[in-house]
Amino acid sequence: MSNPYAQAANAGTTPILADLRSDTVTRPDAGMRAAMAEADVGDDVYGDDPTVNRLEAVMAERLGKEAALFVNSGTQSNFCAMLSHCARGEEIITARPYHVFKYEALGASVLGGIAFDAQDPAADGALDADVVTHTVKDDDSHHPITRLLSLENTHNGKAIPLSRMADAVDAGRAAGLSLHLDGARYYNAITALNCGETALADMFDTVSICLSKGLGAPVGSVLVGPTELIARARRWRKMLGGGTRQAGLLAAAGLYALDNNVTRLREDHARAEALADALRPFGEVAQATNMIFFTPPGGVTSDLPTHMASHGVKLSGATGTTRFVVHKDVTDDGLQAAIDGFQRYWG
Ligand SMILES: *Cc1c(COP(=O)(O)O)cnc(C)c1O
Repeated sequence: MSNPYAQAANAGTTPILADLRSDTVTRPDAGMRAAMAEADVGDDVYGDDPTVNRLEAVMAERLGKEAALFVNSGTQSNFCAMLSHCARGEEIITARPYHVFKYEALGASVLGGIAFDAQDPAADGALDADVVTHTVKDDDSHHPITRLLSLENTHNGKAIPLSRMADAVDAGRAAGLSLHLDGARYYNAITALNCGETALADMFDTVSICLSKGLGAPVGSVLVGPTELIARARRWRKMLGGGTRQAGLLAAAGLYALDNNVTRLREDHARAEALADALRPFGEVAQATNMIFFTPPGGVTSDLPTHMASHGVKLSGATGTTRFVVHKDVTDDGLQAAIDGFQRYWG
């Protein structure tokens, strides 16, 4: 206990048994911290960090792409991809609820002069092929130039089947578009679809994958794609202030996550299923991969978060439909605490 940096955290608060707000709350465990502490580092802006270089090589290899870029966040990864695919006055087709359109402050439009045409997805979260086809603009000076189709998997936890992805992708290719996948939870998708690691990535030019969600790393995403495009993305990352120096400390966490936290995602999906089963008597439940969307009868349960906090369970707000996310730091004990808390609330 002589480490002055190791004391303040969580002092005096109720112990948290399960934080169900998001899988971004996962904290690096002892093995990951050891990997970080021992990482070989250099200056990554000079291309000198051996651990970053290894992470990029490993991710490119695993996803079957030529090159990869380690970036600060999923938002930065999508941003660098979109600006590398599109020029000013060009357009991205995506779906209204996808992250690139709804949750990234429209950075590609604000900073890149790129337009979005966002359409409604189908019930399974996919963008239908005919929607893609009809959204592509004619070559006419009245319109932006449609350049990129940006899809997402998993979407709201749903692992969209490969055949559904292929339909949209084929429609995009037929119209001459480039293809980007926001695969923030790529490995949750692969796990649920029970397919090979590159099966989904193979359809796309570029794929963005978060290391900092279910995989449990503290920071970082990786963008994979063709060498020439990744070189452009590296320039955008630098321009954004996203070039970092001894980032091997963080890349080591990513490498550790790939070795240790991919196959265990099955456990998260099984626990999410168990939690969904326990919630079913109390309201409407939709569960897929590691996420549960829960709607209590009447919708409003504003005192639920406070009640659950007294059971050591953290929730986001509870008005209307609430999302619960299961992840590596939700153990069987945490799961049981959540189930007990919910049962006592309605019981
Ligand atoms: C979390 C997420 C992102 C962005 O990741 P940040 O690291 O939070 O910027 C992008 N797309 C999807 C689908 C996500 O869930």
